[in-house]
Amino acid sequence: ELANLMDVPVTQVISTCMSLGMFVSINQRLDAETLTIVADEFGYQVEFIKPEDEQVAELEEPDKEENLVPRAPIVTVMGHVDHGKTSLLDYIRKANVTKGEAGGITQHIGAYLVTLDDGRKITFLDTPGHEAFTAMRARGAKVTDIVIIVIAADDAVMPQTIEAINHAQAAGSPIVFAFTKIDKPGANSDRIREQLANMNILVEEWGGKYQTQEISAKTGENVELLLEKVLLEAELLDLKADPKKRGVGSVIESALDKGRGIVTTVLVQGGTLRVGDPILAGPYSGKVKALINERGERVKEAGPSVPVQILGMSGAPTAGDKLYVMESESEARQVANKRLQLQREQGMRATKHITLDEIGRRLAIGNFKELNIIVKGDVDGSIEALSDALLKLSTDEIQVNIIHKSVGAISESDVLLASASDAIIIGFQVRPTQGARKLAEQEQIDVRLYSIIYDAIEEIKSAMEGMLAPKY
Ligand code: GDP
Repeated sequence: ELANLMDVPVTQVISTCMSLGMFVSINQRLDAETLTIVADEFGYQVEFIKPEDEQVAELEEPDKEENLVPRAPIVTVMGHVDHGKTSLLDYIRKANVTKGEAGGITQHIGAYLVTLDDGRKITFLDTPGHEAFTAMRARGAKVTDIVIIVIAADDAVMPQTIEAINHAQAAGSPIVFAFTKIDKPGANSDRIREQLANMNILVEEWGGKYQTQEISAKTGENVELLLEKVLLEAELLDLKADPKKRGVGSVIESALDKGRGIVTTVLVQGGTLRVGDPILAGPYSGKVKALINERGERVKEAGPSVPVQILGMSGAPTAGDKLYVMESESEARQVANKRLQLQREQGMRATKHITLDEIGRRLAIGNFKELNIIVKGDVDGSIEALSDALLKLSTDEIQVNIIHKSVGAISESDVLLASASDAIIIGFQVRPTQGARKLAEQEQIDVRLYSIIYDAIEEIKSAMEGMLAPKY
């Protein structure tokens, strides 16, 4: 098509691509940047017209500076299994709602909002753990502002604690540490501080930047202080939103309810969502029939940082899908139908992630700056050795980042992190689990397995030099 438009033989287009380090077939789609460069070689300028679907992204109205008001921080709780994530969320839910407002939080709708005695508010995502967090991120939704990482003070920094830290850091989210279970004999939070320090995570008490709080989710001791620290972190972020524009948010969960039809929980991120609004989320549309809060009450509207259940979608969108209030119902339906059609044609995902073979091409285009790598291995020693060697491959042009490294098989959580952070995964003497393999295929994540450190380093090095021989 490109050759036709430029009126040159297709072989010339292909050889131009090759000279850019890209081996293409005759009917392969080129991305925007490649198109521009190739056309430039032939003296043409490319003008892009956005497909209608992309214009939808612009249907999110820009914020008006004069309308901006502070909004509540949105918090996710993460940490190792059994360290007390659910207990903390349960305690906060019970303790902070009964005070001010009538009736407690009666429903699990995926998120809840608490109001402290002084009127300040915090929104908690009710699905703890880094998997849910990163799965949303892999779909392009950045919902969480602040992460609380719980570490049981009678236990230690555990593998999932480290995972949680890495996932939060990869997202660029500030972390507040909660040292839990301090009511238990044997609780020793200084031991945890030391373990964190050994990972280069210095807590405030020791001169670092991370706030910590000892708490007990069982007795409730110090939980208020923890929330105080979360709010302090929020102040630094200066979170604001424009409640006057058309509502926009992210889907937290969605399911078919026998009596009520499709029930979708949305966290509003900007604007205000109202009963009667025409809406669009993923390939579905509808009109807001009712809004229900976490107390089971019907409400008329929901503003920024407010979680709310929506009745009235035509189907169940996926967690992480963006929800837009549209101009009209017919417009919402039109875009939804187009998306549905596109999905059918193209399969589920279209986003392209980095692969080693891709590096050469992106280098040629000149927009490749960072290579994110996840390293999994069988023993600590080899993971450290491999990571160090990979970091040293960084050049002035490309920075190598090891965003996560740990002992064990390549897991689904690793693949999600790779997808959310556009990373490749290197397995040294380990393999992906069956679930991880499937997910990697679906998300198109490059997973490379090695049994010799030297091979791994050589291959990454040649890729970074744009010298990797393409695989067919
Ligand atoms: P999660 O897997 O991280 O969600 O952990 P849970 O919240 O389910 O807690 C695991 C276990 O630790 C449960 O038996 C809780 O009752 C207990 N637990 C959680 N927090 C505390 C605490 O602060 N003190 C005590 N004594 N037990 C706790």
